Amino acid sequence: MTAAHPIDRADVAELRERIRGAVHRPVDHGYPTVGFNVAVDRRPWAVIDAHDAGDVVAAVGFAGANDMTVAVHATGHGAVTVDGTSLLVRTSGMTAIEIDPRERTARVGAGVRWQQVLEAAAPHGLAPLCGSAPSVGVIGFLTGGGIGPLVRAVGCSSDHVREFEVVTGDGRLVHASPSENAELFWGLRGGKATLGVVTEAVIDLLPIATLYAGAMYFDAADAEVVLRRWRAWTDTLPDDADTSVAVMRLPDLPGVPAPLAGRTTVAVRYAALTTPERAEAVLAPIRAAADPILDTVGTMPYAAIGAVHADPVDPMPVVEGGVLLRDLSDGVVDEILRHAGPDVRTGLAVVEIRLLGGRFAQAPRVDSAVCHRDAVAHLYAVGVLAPEAADIAAGQVSALVASMADYSDGRRLPNFSASSDQAVIAACYDEETRSWLSALAVRFDRRGVLRAGQVVR
Ligand SMILES: Cc1cc2nc3c(=O)[nH]c(=O)nc-3n(C[C@H](O)[C@H](O)[C@H](O)COP(=O)(O)OP(=O)(O)OC[C@H]3O[C@@H](n4cnc5c(N)ncnc54)[C@H](O)[C@@H]3O)c2cc1C
Repeated sequence: MTAAHPIDRADVAELRERIRGAVHRPVDHGYPTVGFNVAVDRRPWAVIDAHDAGDVVAAVGFAGANDMTVAVHATGHGAVTVDGTSLLVRTSGMTAIEIDPRERTARVGAGVRWQQVLEAAAPHGLAPLCGSAPSVGVIGFLTGGGIGPLVRAVGCSSDHVREFEVVTGDGRLVHASPSENAELFWGLRGGKATLGVVTEAVIDLLPIATLYAGAMYFDAADAEVVLRRWRAWTDTLPDDADTSVAVMRLPDLPGVPAPLAGRTTVAVRYAALTTPERAEAVLAPIRAAADPILDTVGTMPYAAIGAVHADPVDPMPVVEGGVLLRDLSDGVVDEILRHAGPDVRTGLAVVEIRLLGGRFAQAPRVDSAVCHRDAVAHLYAVGVLAPEAADIAAGQVSALVASMADYSDGRRLPNFSASSDQAVIAACYDEETRSWLSALAVRFDRRGVLRAGQVVR
């Protein structure tokens, strides 16, 4: 007779007793966890709606005692498969936020999305260094570093974290800052949930009320001209200007602007932290490339920064791929046209290149586990698993990424690498950072409770 596994003896009644929030087993109404990417399979032993940090401590303790692991879900924008050996801690209800206008900081709970911070900070003329999509969760974004529409002008978002409250894999609630638990503070910025489940963070707010930003959308017929012009233009861009380009095949669905729906377009996104006159002059070569079908670039309130990328907000089944480029030469444009150009039948809904460099490339004030800052750009592709494209999309994402071999060393960013595949995770870090994260994981999580999903081991 084989001995029963501790999971078989786990008692949900005991867990419910320890948790203030709700605990859902698979038969319960609240169990399904819908994130942004609905293609990811998540069937944990139980789902816990954490009410506060105490619930996270209790969940981690219960998991450790029953030989389970703990995975975390805030919004599901970076969801990874979870199986029946894990508890899934949903932090979505931990949405407390406090703005300190004098200190220029925001204290945010683990379930807060960027939109909430944008709205709370704007009345004070302040701005968080968010990503392209305000519906993404603040903590998931920051633990992966975070490259937003101002990554060149201001830098990596996690460089603007002041402190964390975190539950380590050993089930302790601790404070991490540059002066307290400094190693933990280092590894939480870039290491995702490797070292703990963050329950709260204090982040910088920047005195930016408005900026010159937006997107220019061009017709498929102008794709090659615009892509080649954009590439050459990036060689000349000052560090206070940010840009990305995307070849998009947006579906004809509610929420997609009529001129862009159901067709191939090329979007040049732009954001500049300078005077409108200077920002406009810098953009002139793109405005002269072709007649846009839609031009939204101008002075806008910072709180509307989500309009620069206009990322989708509704859940959908997607397959993604990303890779950092060390060389942004014409060959990159050739490959994008070959794989996703207007004449190609493809399931690639978005192929995007974000320009890096500028402040991102500079060493941060407080060192962190965010690596590969010397990369010149990031390529990201999304295939929507719609019925007509499901069979081809995954292969096309991989083929596009593979076609970058001459321009990339295969390095990646954690935020665009939602996976539990250790080879994918390893590509997010240099050798030294990876070994140091692994060593810290053993120190802060002796039983391996957090060994689930996108963690370094
Ligand atoms: C439409 C879209 C736009 C995006 N834009 C950008 C962008 O501009 N720049 C960029 O850098 N990234 C971007 N991303 C990637 C995004 O930052 C990551 O997917 C991020 O992990 C999402 O975090 P989340 O909490 O919203 O998602 P979730 O799926 O809820 O969490 C994803 C992961 O984040 C970690 N995590 C979440 N909460 C915690 C916690 N409390 N403690 C520790 N770890 C935690 C865990 O590893 C978790 O598995 C985008 C993604 C999408 C889908």
